[in-house]
Amino acid sequence: MIKSRQIQRRQLVLIVDDYEINRDALGAILEDDYDIICAENGEEALKQMQDHLNDLSVVMLDLIMPVMSGFEVLETMKKDEQLKSIPVIVLTAEKDAELSALQMGAADFITKPFDQPEVIQARVGRIIELSEGRQLISSAERDQLTGLYTRNFFIEYANRLFKYHTEMKFDAVVINIEKFHTVNALHGRDFGDDVLKCIGSAISSFLTETDGIACRFEADSFAIYCVKQPDYRALLDRIQDEVNGLSEKVSIHLRMGVKPWSKGVNPLLQFDQARAACNKVRGNYKDPLMIYGTEMMEKELMDQRLFNDLKTAVESYQFKVYFQPKYSIQCDPPKLSSAEALIRWVHPDLGFISPDDFVPLFEGNGVIGVVDNFVWNETARQVRAWKDKYNFTLPVSVNLSRSDVLDPDLKNRLKRLIEDNGLTYDDIKIELTESAYTEDMKRVLEVIRGLRDMGFMIEMDDFGSGYSSLNMLSEMPFDVLKMDMKFVRNIEHSETDRRLVRLILDIAKCLDVKVVAEGVETEQQMQFLRENGCDLIQGYYFSRPLHPDDFEKLIEEEISIKR
Ligand code: C2E
Ligand code: MG
Ligand code: MG
Repeated sequence: MIKSRQIQRRQLVLIVDDYEINRDALGAILEDDYDIICAENGEEALKQMQDHLNDLSVVMLDLIMPVMSGFEVLETMKKDEQLKSIPVIVLTAEKDAELSALQMGAADFITKPFDQPEVIQARVGRIIELSEGRQLISSAERDQLTGLYTRNFFIEYANRLFKYHTEMKFDAVVINIEKFHTVNALHGRDFGDDVLKCIGSAISSFLTETDGIACRFEADSFAIYCVKQPDYRALLDRIQDEVNGLSEKVSIHLRMGVKPWSKGVNPLLQFDQARAACNKVRGNYKDPLMIYGTEMMEKELMDQRLFNDLKTAVESYQFKVYFQPKYSIQCDPPKLSSAEALIRWVHPDLGFISPDDFVPLFEGNGVIGVVDNFVWNETARQVRAWKDKYNFTLPVSVNLSRSDVLDPDLKNRLKRLIEDNGLTYDDIKIELTESAYTEDMKRVLEVIRGLRDMGFMIEMDDFGSGYSSLNMLSEMPFDVLKMDMKFVRNIEHSETDRRLVRLILDIAKCLDVKVVAEGVETEQQMQFLRENGCDLIQGYYFSRPLHPDDFEKLIEEEISIKR
């Protein structure tokens, strides 16, 4: 590690200048921190370098000198395998010479006269830092797979940059792969390794253009400590694009959290906050970037508030269950065939809150069961009421969360629901989102098989948004496939999406399951789906989710058509 090595020895600096007064001035500035040796011209300097090959940290090199100039020294060093890795800081009074010196491989330059000791100390320190970082990194300090630093080395290095280079302002960036274990499980470890390597190389390429360091922080998480970037979305897109190039068939989603530099915040805390930001956008494929700051703190406060308000909300009926109809479209006119129960929260102070704002939150902290229970009970009660009022049976599907699936009491809860309301297992259907199948797959499949054995119909929700592969599909027990909205959205504009929709319809036919297309909003979308054999449609084209009173009007219409 940098630290322990540095404690063992002081770094050695070679000052090369033909004027004694310059050597003395620089020596005085640096001698408290470094051991100093000197040379009067290029020839002497090269000799000193050979003599101190193993412990020379940096050369401070004047350009204009008798016998052998600094330019010639740089030229010689560049060609020498051993010397070329020693960093050189050029000392110059001529502005014009700087550029050529940098082009010849100098790491930095300092202008004469040496009247800003702190600046010189900082620049020397930084150059040594960066070059020692580079040189001292043995294979043990590099992650074998990605070539980035290891986590420990990275933290050590970041801490040093933070402590000794207060003139530099570094941001903390964390990148994570969504459901990486699933990618591994479905596509093999070799493919998983390719993904990690690809991200590593995209980050390395980015770091050639900017000051910074990076590591693989954990299995599927990366950390970058870099100077402020103008556009983090562009950085995320750039890395995501590289990953997209790996395979056409597999979609890998990255997410990013950033904690910008702020005074006095050390790297450990800064990375904790960047990681918290990154976790905030877990599963958010639409907007996978979060910058830690006011917006995030506001969201955290809001999340906390919603969490605190949950109990009262259930007790005081702030939650309402709305129903969105699903229509069979292979008959004329289309026929009301079932519905989906969707939760609505009308908060006394905050007004209408979309399920997208609280369902993932409550799923994350394990309390979604409370909401789902409420929805199931309300739904069962409503289906019973419609049976009694209209002598009309309309199966309604409820959404199951992942935590419901893993609840050992699930079967009993559902059994009681059916029995207490005097329903049959055909009256309530179950929707489970595709991605819930892919985590802990064995367990989930067992539960779902159990529910089907009880007599429930299972609908796979959001099909096409997650990670399921074709060979998994045949193993997954379900009766209805709900095609994700994104396919329908572009039917009118994209031939690829039309082909994909046809493909999904074909697959469903092979598996002998029905298809519900979600998010159907226009006549054209409806016609296309009908012509291509889609069975059912749910979407604004027919109706938005409705308050039960409004939904009754649809039932009444349906009954009057039948008569
Ligand atoms: P989902 O289960 O895929 O539900 C379908 C969502 O699509 C609903 O959003 C519905 O209002 C919306 N939708 C339907 N037709 C259209 C259309 O034509 N255009 C557009 N733009 N949207 C349409 P909603 O109600 O906001 O629910 C969002 C998600 O929240 C649901 O997605 C589901 O994952 C979750 N959710 C809703 N209610 C519950 C619940 O009771 N329990 C659980 N666990 N999750 C729920
Ligand atoms: Mg659903
Ligand atoms: Mg859906």
